[in-house]
Amino acid sequence: MKYIIILGDGMADEPIDMLGGKTPLQAADKPAIDWLAAHGRSGMLATVPSGFAPGSEIANLSVLGYDVPKVFEGRGSLEAASMGIPIEEGEMAMRCNLITIEDGKIKNHSAGHISNEEAAQLIEFLQQELGGGDVNFFPGVSYRHLLKLKGGSKRIITTPPHDVPGTPYKEVLVRPADASGEATAKRLNELIERSQELLANHPVNLARKAQGKDPANSIWPWSPGYRPQMETLMSRYGIKNGVVISAVDLIKGIGVYAGLTPIEVEGATGLYDTNYEGKAQAATDALKTHDFVFLHIEASDEAGHEGDVALKVRTIEYLDHRVVRPILEEVSKWAEPVSIAVLPDHPTPCKLRTHTSAPIPFVIYRTNESGDDVQVFDEFAARKGSYGNLSGDQFMECFIQREK
Ligand SMILES: [Zn+2]
Repeated sequence: MKYIIILGDGMADEPIDMLGGKTPLQAADKPAIDWLAAHGRSGMLATVPSGFAPGSEIANLSVLGYDVPKVFEGRGSLEAASMGIPIEEGEMAMRCNLITIEDGKIKNHSAGHISNEEAAQLIEFLQQELGGGDVNFFPGVSYRHLLKLKGGSKRIITTPPHDVPGTPYKEVLVRPADASGEATAKRLNELIERSQELLANHPVNLARKAQGKDPANSIWPWSPGYRPQMETLMSRYGIKNGVVISAVDLIKGIGVYAGLTPIEVEGATGLYDTNYEGKAQAATDALKTHDFVFLHIEASDEAGHEGDVALKVRTIEYLDHRVVRPILEEVSKWAEPVSIAVLPDHPTPCKLRTHTSAPIPFVIYRTNESGDDVQVFDEFAARKGSYGNLSGDQFMECFIQREK
């Protein structure tokens, strides 16, 4: 048996007036995904454990069967894996944004979506000036970078900068969660202040200001953690080997710790204009030589964040016509049976423009097995599915059929 999970990030939604009370999944023309529902078995899955915000990293860890409270060590550590940077014993990793501060307030969390090249110059400059001892900076993508702190304690409270635009930065500096986090909080706040002195007149920022762009005039470290202790999917589920295909570093990082090999697809953007056909092709190619493929497509989530209902419907139709259909057509010809799962990680309702923790619908279709009574794939139909209401690692337990 081979396995492929096709995950449409943030695809689930709520009924929307402009769709006549339907959800985007109900309104979209998606014959291939509905065919899977009609011939497979459906269910609902709770992907966000209580006490956790419904982030993609949390929901994707759950989908892959991980116990989130046990394994989650922050965004920085997951992105480090996708960047190929090991986290050693005694080190703490953090996501380190480049942000824009104006009149002492956080103007944005992304330094005006700074380019990779500009950001790399700034991060390398900070590494020269501040790095090398207990602190090391590593350049990532756009505003998303990595900071490692030797001897750092994760007993600190940090603030995601995208949650607090317009807030005076001094009000949301790092705080200790208890006495053991005091030294780390102090050190990180020193680094934030020092970065502001160093970045203020850096040539990259002077040039950005001259062009009317937001300067990257502060670092913002958040989401601390140590090296995740994640059992691989190979050891847990007896899978021989597998790949992860995603444009998103967080998801690739989860895949790496899960023991999956990341595959790069040219033109995979993480947006609605992504190379759907290329990702589908890469997935079926990988499935010929591997047991397990985790194919993640970000586009629907972005449409949800933009509150763009028509675009969200279109991203679901693209996923159907340009990803699910070609994969289904190809694997249906194979002698070896294949299990295909289609699901989102969490809802990103267009009305709210952010993630929610509501359970998501899923379908599992196996080329050698008959299905249940559910005929279409959406948030309501799946509630009548024969898998019922699952949570945590129960999805993977159902999806993977162990050798008897
Ligand atoms: Zn997501």
